[in-house]
Amino acid sequence: MAYCRKCGEVIDDEAVFCPKCGVQQNTVRTDKEVNDDGSVLWAIIAFLIPVVGIILWAAWHDEKPKCSKMAAYGTIISLVVGAIGFFAVFFWFGSFHIHYGY
Ligand SMILES: [Zn+2]
Repeated sequence: MAYCRKCGEVIDDEAVFCPKCGVQQNTVRTDKEVNDDGSVLWAIIAFLIPVVGIILWAAWHDEKPKCSKMAAYGTIISLVVGAIGFFAVFFWFGSFHIHYGY
């Protein structure tokens, strides 16, 4: 539904001229195009840079729920892998000290 920009008459969305007053309408579409494709690319970016993943998740929470979810997944996976890596290194150094510390 659109309205004539001069007289306010209800006109067709595609109407070029108002049928009541004949004024030419602004043909520029005001519909905001949201490309919420939920691309796995966002998960990869979030995985590589978790801080960016958190920012994207927060920024797209309402506007792009699918992309937001992918960013959240990437961030979670990144944090889990990071935690496992941290503990792996931690225990590796721990066993190192047990073998050669005494
Ligand atoms: Zn009009």
